Amino acid sequence: MTPQQALIDLEAAIREADERLNTLAAVTLERATFDNTFLAYEQAEENLRQLQGYMRHLSNVTASPAIQQAVTAISARTSAHHAKRKNTEQIKQVLMQAAKAPWVQELSPAKQLFIRRIISKFETEGRSLTPAQRQRRAAITMELHHLTSQFTENIRQGAGSWQLVIHTQSELHGMPQHWLQQAARAAAQAGYTNAWLITPATAHDVLRLCTVEDTRRRCWPGTVATGTRHASDNEPVLHRILELRHEAASMLGYPNHAEMKAHGRMVKDAEHALSLIDDLLAKSKPAWDAYVAAEMKRFSQVAGKQLTTINPWDVAYYNNILPPEQKGFDYSKLTPYLQAENCIQGMMAIWSKLLGLRFEERPTSYLKPGQELNENSIEVWHPSVRFFNVYDTATGSLLGGFYLDLYPRQGKGGPAWCMPLRQGNPATADTPAEPHLAVLLANITPPQAGSPHLLSHYDLHTLHHEFGHLMHHLLPHGELRSQGSLGVEQDFLEVPSQLQENWIWEPEALATFAYHHETGAPLPAELAEQIAADRRKSPLLDHMHLLWMAKLDLELHMFYHEKFKGRALDAACAEILAPWQMPWSVPIPTRMRTLDHNITKGYDAGMYIYKWTEVLSSEAFTRFREEGVMNPATGAAYRRDILDKGGSTPATEQFRTFLNREPDTDALIQRFLP
Ligand SMILES: [Zn+2]
Repeated sequence: MTPQQALIDLEAAIREADERLNTLAAVTLERATFDNTFLAYEQAEENLRQLQGYMRHLSNVTASPAIQQAVTAISARTSAHHAKRKNTEQIKQVLMQAAKAPWVQELSPAKQLFIRRIISKFETEGRSLTPAQRQRRAAITMELHHLTSQFTENIRQGAGSWQLVIHTQSELHGMPQHWLQQAARAAAQAGYTNAWLITPATAHDVLRLCTVEDTRRRCWPGTVATGTRHASDNEPVLHRILELRHEAASMLGYPNHAEMKAHGRMVKDAEHALSLIDDLLAKSKPAWDAYVAAEMKRFSQVAGKQLTTINPWDVAYYNNILPPEQKGFDYSKLTPYLQAENCIQGMMAIWSKLLGLRFEERPTSYLKPGQELNENSIEVWHPSVRFFNVYDTATGSLLGGFYLDLYPRQGKGGPAWCMPLRQGNPATADTPAEPHLAVLLANITPPQAGSPHLLSHYDLHTLHHEFGHLMHHLLPHGELRSQGSLGVEQDFLEVPSQLQENWIWEPEALATFAYHHETGAPLPAELAEQIAADRRKSPLLDHMHLLWMAKLDLELHMFYHEKFKGRALDAACAEILAPWQMPWSVPIPTRMRTLDHNITKGYDAGMYIYKWTEVLSSEAFTRFREEGVMNPATGAAYRRDILDKGGSTPATEQFRTFLNREPDTDALIQRFLP
């Protein structure tokens, strides 16, 4: 696939899509069948999407300017073509009418679900607006586009022009020599003599290391200035974004933006998402209070006096001078046992046993232009990329294949993801299902000449998380191509990946592949138990942090007019989170000024998804915990009820079938109870 060929294929794919959509727009109700309406709609742009997907993938894994240019050209050409398309409204009418036809009731549940989702998408997209409303909506979209770019730009600007010049060295007591030399050089360059210049990047070091409280206090603003200062203040930007989002949602008949976004998600409505987060916050309150009390006691010990409030500029310093036994489990102790190839093979062995699969590595070739591909070999985009086939152990059939591209290099994106590259065609009366194709991409510790190739526990975490996505991408073989893994509700997508992370904390699983790289000794039981224990009380602060983000994100998108409009953002946010704050000595800027996940990354009114999927995956894991983490029968049920289903049934149903009950927040909260 060369950039030149991609541009030729693009024109062919656009022509094909146009022809197919014209045919669809002309279907009359009397002649309508599932195949010439909804199936035709699913397939119309298939080749166009496929082409875009392949090219985007190549642009993510190579540093080729020609590919980057082709991707930009393809994207511009496709958007322009979509904007010009005339029969969108007509196609919508054909499908809306067809959805009411009596034959729909005779279709399989998967096909009926497919139809319901298309109609629901039309409703959210608001194609039923009056021309004036449509014009206003387009204007809102334009302004939001501008505002969200501004929001990101303000974050990119960081703390902007913040700096601090120190003239007396004793004020920097505790700072290491090389740091002082650098700060002095920076000051000299800026025209100061006998001085030290602190920038936002170096202010963090001062907060951690400097023994002089007053210097830490003066540096603290430099560490929290992003999104707060003058020209790059995100407060007015955020107010306007929320106002416009609310207006656009109201036009479509929704009470607020969050309610609109919840449409088509597993939680169904925003109230439900908020009550889930409120429930988790309430259940975490005792653990949080205990945490705050313990922290304040520790800080008081370090400070040598009884503290009732804590300065935000003292936390990093106090944590840094704590004795090592108070700092938690040191994961680097595991590294000597994590030989890269053992970890990769070990992960596959676990999932081949649990899911009834066989993985087979294929020879690969990295070709220069003009070189011929060996018949038995798979072409790859870099010599380090590997390829594996996945077979069903019971039937022997080939389910799919995947590329494994694990190590960082120039021009490669990251940090890690797993994507389907091609969804195979479903089985028909006379042909078996086509295999799927996917890629698992990461930037884990690369091999180094002359030393053993060892991974960190965090690398292992990345691998197992992405492998969960991979199994979800490769296994579903339903009736429709679009009902693969990406056809599930957005708030279910991370469940298999988060579930499969659990195995990296399980002594029974670690025992299958963790051997010391020098002695070959298995992981000591004591170390394995420490890891499992650390997992059981996984960091409360991370958990709370996600809950705070989710709470504020939902409140902002549900109650903007009631709770935020016309008010100072920091104060309004602090008020909402008051029961779960450290007793800070001064007000702290809200994280909402710098969180672009819910502004530009599609997680608006969706930050709860991280916690929601954690609830679901913790719940799903309880069944493995009860029946055995290496129990093939439980693995088979997980495959049958969830992975094989993909997007062909509602996620709530899949989950209920697997667990035989409704999800509850208890399994997750267990991890944080003191
Ligand atoms: Zn993920």
